[in-house]
Amino acid sequence: MPSYTAPTRDTRFIINEMLDLESYAELPGFEAASADVTDAVINEGGKFCAEVLAPINQSGDQEGCTRHEDGSVTAPKGFKEAFDQFREAGWGTLSQPEEFGGQGMPHVLGFAFEEFVSSANQAFGMYPGLTNGAVSALLAKGSQEQKEKYLPKMISNEWTGTMNLTEPHCGTDLGMIRTKAEPQADGSYAITGTKIFISAGEHDMADNIIHLVLAKTPGAPDSTKGISLFVVPKFLVEEDGSIGERNGVVCGSIEHKMGIHGNATCVLNYDGAKGWLVGEENKGLAAMFIMMNAARLGVGIQGLSQAEVAYQNAVAYALDRRQGRALTGPAEPEQQADPIFVHPDVRRMLMDAKAFTEGMRALCLWGALQVDLSHKAATEEEREQADMLIGLLTPVIKGYGTDKGYEVATNMQQVFGGHGYIEEWGMSQFVRDARIAQIYEGTNGVQAMDLCGRKLAQKGGAAVQAFFKVVGEDIAEAKGDETLAPLAEAMEKALGQQQAATMWFMQNAMQNPNHLGAGAHHYMHIMGIVTLGWMWLRMAKAAQAALAAGTDDKAFYEAKLTTARYYMDRYLPDAGALRRKLETGSDSMMALGEEAFATAA
Ligand SMILES: Cc1cc2nc3c(=O)[nH]c(=O)nc-3n(C[C@H](O)[C@H](O)[C@H](O)COP(=O)(O)OP(=O)(O)OC[C@H]3O[C@@H](n4cnc5c(N)ncnc54)[C@H](O)[C@@H]3O)c2cc1C
Repeated sequence: MPSYTAPTRDTRFIINEMLDLESYAELPGFEAASADVTDAVINEGGKFCAEVLAPINQSGDQEGCTRHEDGSVTAPKGFKEAFDQFREAGWGTLSQPEEFGGQGMPHVLGFAFEEFVSSANQAFGMYPGLTNGAVSALLAKGSQEQKEKYLPKMISNEWTGTMNLTEPHCGTDLGMIRTKAEPQADGSYAITGTKIFISAGEHDMADNIIHLVLAKTPGAPDSTKGISLFVVPKFLVEEDGSIGERNGVVCGSIEHKMGIHGNATCVLNYDGAKGWLVGEENKGLAAMFIMMNAARLGVGIQGLSQAEVAYQNAVAYALDRRQGRALTGPAEPEQQADPIFVHPDVRRMLMDAKAFTEGMRALCLWGALQVDLSHKAATEEEREQADMLIGLLTPVIKGYGTDKGYEVATNMQQVFGGHGYIEEWGMSQFVRDARIAQIYEGTNGVQAMDLCGRKLAQKGGAAVQAFFKVVGEDIAEAKGDETLAPLAEAMEKALGQQQAATMWFMQNAMQNPNHLGAGAHHYMHIMGIVTLGWMWLRMAKAAQAALAAGTDDKAFYEAKLTTARYYMDRYLPDAGALRRKLETGSDSMMALGEEAFATAA
């Protein structure tokens, strides 16, 4: 059975040393997050995930969810009890607003915990994860009455939440939604239609499920401009907050899927279910985007989480499994063979994984800090800057983070050789679970187009210019330091590749938008590579400061510097190759007609 230990040492390093969270102590919510509190939350959170959630990950995968004839669904054995413990310990309340029963701590802590939950048990983590997304949408767009009615119970995890966008004929193109919302005399709406692929759509882990549903009112425009958002509880909620009648929404079936078997992916049939408008009519997509942006960061963390747990198990295996001899001569001559850890090709995979997971963790936690700063920073200028940067990088965290997370999980499976393909070792589950993160919350192709088609151009390119400026400043500062200078010089070249790719888009994409579509994936990867490099530069700086101050944990900080060098050596050059691909445009890609794709016998 695979094992999991929360990487709390690294998380504490990033939060306390790289981000220096305590330096924000004067901002609201941050005052409570002293280093002591942060460390305690991280250590206890890590323990909870390793001891309670990880042991039911593999059994949950094997058993899956069960739908009964009456449409009810039971989660795998142990999930309900684990969720009871999760709720009682208040883990879901960490970064939620105090006004509705949350602890009001910075999102940095919430994100750190989310990684541990997802590594320990991604399918389980989606129940509270989707609830958090629904909470963000209600917080931003719900009426005061809706907030008071639903938020306290959702934040305490007595109730969970879902997001209902997808229908059988439309996923990416939500303008085609057919679910109807008929206004009723009492101010509610009757919701009718079929939603598919709804994660955590039905289960036995909470007393109520609050569905956020996209639907169209009569006469609404037949496009994304005609979509409205509704809150539709599984059980109606009485005036006094108690649970009332069963609403007209049932689970018609659960999907048989490749992974995340412990999470119920449901077809939900709405048959005149009572719902209430959230925000304004026809502005539902914008409201849902609030939820999706929160969720996209969460999905990026899933990419990291599966890479991390797969990496931990691959390291243990590589140290234990003996095959062949080191190229430089036997490492352990008294044994029949050396551990596979000695082989450079195995080390390549492990180092790629180490450099990605630590870099990605830094990026996710930095991203969480920007979410906090976008609301809480002292000046309007700082709030705007944080908002711009996290808006720009959300598709990168989601798209690059999950593409790479999946690749790393697969490589970690490779370290196991044939045993990686055998279910009992657990590596296959990590690969299968990681795969979905590239698909849902907007496929990664859609993330790339969001980045290149929308975010790059927004406000005349202000966000990407702000990104170039902050990264450029860190590079310039690091160049003045003997140890950091080689890293900074490598980063300067990679940043130059991204700037050139941006310029190429500016000069070529207007005349032929297919050039943008053809290069968007590559651009997203270039930006992912550069951004993780930037995080490595910042980690190297923090590590060097600790070494200069005379730490007694030298090995940890020296490993950071070596891994930073590896990242610059082995990841950054890909930015140049990707840029060259991008600059070939779309001509050869789009030249062939349909008939050329037909298979000739
Ligand atoms: C396990 C699972 C859980 C899910 N959970 C939820 C949930 O909780 N709630 C929910 O509402 N949905 C959920 N989904 C649905 C998911 O978000 C969609 O499957 C996803 O957004 C893609 O939509 P689609 O499957 O219809 O693919 P399509 O939209 O048909 O896309 C097919 C392919 O075409 C590409 N494509 C489509 N349009 C464009 C374009 N304009 N430009 C470039 N490429 C394009 C896509 O990238 C993709 O490769 C879930 C799906 C799964 C499998």
